[in-house]
Amino acid sequence: MNTEIIEKIDTTIVDLPLKRIHKFSATTINCKSFVIVQIHTKNGVIGIGEATTPGGPWWAGEAVETIKVMIDSYLAPALIGENALQINALLQKMDAVAAHNPFSKAALEMALLDIKGQVLNVPIYELFGGLSRESMPLKWPLAQGNAKADLEEAEHLMSFNVAQEFKVKMGYMSPEDDVNYIGELCRGLNGKATLCGDLNATWSELTTQKYLPELAAHGMDMLEQPVAAWNRLALARIRDASPMPILADESVCSPQDVNETYRLGSADMLSLKIFKHGGLTRTHQISQIAAANGIACYAGTFLESSIGTAAFMHLVAAQDNINGGNELVGPIWLADDIVEDPVQYKDNHIWVKHSPGLGVTLDLDKLSHYQRV
Ligand SMILES: [Mg+2]
Repeated sequence: MNTEIIEKIDTTIVDLPLKRIHKFSATTINCKSFVIVQIHTKNGVIGIGEATTPGGPWWAGEAVETIKVMIDSYLAPALIGENALQINALLQKMDAVAAHNPFSKAALEMALLDIKGQVLNVPIYELFGGLSRESMPLKWPLAQGNAKADLEEAEHLMSFNVAQEFKVKMGYMSPEDDVNYIGELCRGLNGKATLCGDLNATWSELTTQKYLPELAAHGMDMLEQPVAAWNRLALARIRDASPMPILADESVCSPQDVNETYRLGSADMLSLKIFKHGGLTRTHQISQIAAANGIACYAGTFLESSIGTAAFMHLVAAQDNINGGNELVGPIWLADDIVEDPVQYKDNHIWVKHSPGLGVTLDLDKLSHYQRV
């Protein structure tokens, strides 16, 4: 049996700059915060991982500050002295120590997988069944809240072959203004690119039913999570009436959520995110349950750096069923990265890393430069 005993776990909060502001339904951010995890083994192997949220605790209740405390005070002490290669056993150990907190657990599991890949000398996609695809087309989130600026950004990205598909954040203005905004963007894109919208659970069922036909008439091609996470019945009724596919995000975090979504018929596609599911192993499990039920999956994002992006891309590269698109744009959306060898983008695609483990190396100068003091 291979053994890599965990000796020490370091956590560091960093605040990375953005190229431009980013508006969510609940907040606007101008920098992005991460908890960077380094797990050291007694043999001298170092695995890295990260956790990030969309900007504070509004999405899932966890924020970088709580993630650091949860890891330092509870999860790391449970892992010290254990064999880093026994990842399933360590996931159970973390669950026994702390309920919930999937973002914190995902950061640690990412570093464990990085160690395992390095020790076995394979990229992480080999741990999930091997390579099915090398790249995926990119969908870019427009989120400046200014149609002229959003359209200029879209034109720029299309002209440099970064992305030909777009998504817009909704829900921070009135429904009428949201619909007009979508109309303005669709007219500006003029059929050159697709546009979907993410409401982040901010509309009621009635509001959604009222405005869906107008959104479709403008040319929007998919609607993400219009209503509250718990309200899967409303989502099913909206889907029945919808002229466009419905993507579930906040509604689907656990394996049981996938079962319920299938039973009620409340989504055409599921947005997977490594942090809301508690890491790559559990995201893989969810994608396989979705596959067994004939539901496609989409690679969603909390706007990770190259560390989290490389991690998710390993699973996307291995799992056939994550084929509905991806928005793993973090490394080119950030104004600076935290690794020496960032994830690569070309020809409107993101590309998987082929080096052992995650395939990215932490830039220690940048770690100390961006460390929160
Ligand atoms: Mg979403």
